[in-house]
Amino acid sequence: MSFNVAIDGPAGAGKSTIAKKVAKELGFIYVDTGAMYRAIALYLLRNDIDCENEKQLEEALAHLEVAISYADGEQQVLLNGENITGCIRTEEVGQMASRSSAKPIVRAKLLELQRSMAAANDVLMDGRDIGTQILPDAQLKVYLTASTGARAKRRYLELREKGQECSLEEIEREMEERDYRDMNRETAPLRQAEDAVLVDSSDMTIQEVVDRIVELVKERSVWK
Ligand code: C5P
Repeated sequence: MSFNVAIDGPAGAGKSTIAKKVAKELGFIYVDTGAMYRAIALYLLRNDIDCENEKQLEEALAHLEVAISYADGEQQVLLNGENITGCIRTEEVGQMASRSSAKPIVRAKLLELQRSMAAANDVLMDGRDIGTQILPDAQLKVYLTASTGARAKRRYLELREKGQECSLEEIEREMEERDYRDMNRETAPLRQAEDAVLVDSSDMTIQEVVDRIVELVKERSVWK
């Protein structure tokens, strides 16, 4: 049986950076489910589809296929066979992903892909509803969060490092908007699963969070 770790939390809590490192340390596969929602969002943006228009959305979903592959251990996202991994990390795609992922039909499209990856592999899967909906029987659930200020500052520094102009206030505002939407939607809202371990990374280094999660996995697995 595979060992599944579910990591949920708000935007910018460091889920992907940390999950990638933990996965490497444990020899697990890292599955970034946000990237799958971003792939759908990219399709909607490219084709000028209004996700509030149910008919248009349904038709779009019938014409798109999201698949995952790995290159040098890095997750690649394929949209109708095209590798779009490099095109999905923009604020515009993130906002569209947050709007469209509130639609049950969009979530249903990705459910099987996510569950089948977890059934076949030892995974660290991150997202918003992994512990509550996708993998309710995961051996370990972590709710990773940090204060809005800390999360916005991290995102700001990350963008500046990439040479992108940005404003801290705007990042904070957009983050709050996205979190509010993710936490208050009807379908699969972001919340801490009852049996999830809360990790607040506001005052922790990346390595401290990685060590904490590795320790939790080891506590719960047979190879202590
Ligand atoms: O994690 P990331 O920022 O890439 O996710 C983009 C958006 O996709 C989130 O704001 C959220 O609305 C949506 N998402 C989701 N469920 C997941 C992963 C992401 O609804 N499991």
